[in-house]
Amino acid sequence: MIKENLLNIEERIVAACIRSGRKRDTVKLIAVSKTKPVDMITDAYNNGIRDFGENKVQELCSKYELINESDINWHLIGNLQRNKVRQVVSKTKLIHSVDSFKLAEEISKEVIKQGLAPVNILIEINIANEPTKHGVDIGEVKELIHDIAMLPGIVIKGFMTVAPYTDEPENNRKYFRKMYELYVDMQAENKDNINITELSMGMSGDFEIAIEEGATIVRIGTGIFGERSYL
Ligand SMILES: *Cc1c(COP(=O)(O)O)cnc(C)c1O
Repeated sequence: MIKENLLNIEERIVAACIRSGRKRDTVKLIAVSKTKPVDMITDAYNNGIRDFGENKVQELCSKYELINESDINWHLIGNLQRNKVRQVVSKTKLIHSVDSFKLAEEISKEVIKQGLAPVNILIEINIANEPTKHGVDIGEVKELIHDIAMLPGIVIKGFMTVAPYTDEPENNRKYFRKMYELYVDMQAENKDNINITELSMGMSGDFEIAIEEGATIVRIGTGIFGERSYL
């Protein structure tokens, strides 16, 4: 089933790239494996997937230990609490969910303490100003990235958003477009520690629109692994 799902998603990514005049290799697919067992991750791995997304530190760390493939890139896509940074900072290719200076400060501190190479992060944006969502307001971004860029051990690679839940993916196009504008604007701020090349947006319900609007990373769970059960 995972193989067929991956083929289906891949076809749709390619079609969205063609519609928007983009090359396929400008879009990275992250398979969001949260709540799913290790054997499903291995199945996706055997079908060529190397990037996996988890939203909980505990789950990411235990899967990291259980799966031996050294070429897997783990992405932390969920809210990160400061007291969990220590455990996860050496295990992630990219932390998608940085939304405060204090959190960035904690990441920086741990990178230095553990003697790690600089950690890549994205700033999470609450693009539709939803009260229930994490992420910073678009108006606060510039100041925040300048502050974070002063910290050692961190590279700001771009932006992430979770667009509103909707049955009509077209409704999210305006938000993806705003994210792309921010992404392009902030490339002017590039310097040491700021190297804006990634725009992480689009999930199972709306990834094609996100690609049409410039996503460089799409995060797909249900479309690959099926519905999640939280029992
Ligand atoms: C769960 C999750 C996804 C994947 O959602 P699907 O709708 O299952 O594709 C993507 N991004 C984040 C941040 C998530 O928590």
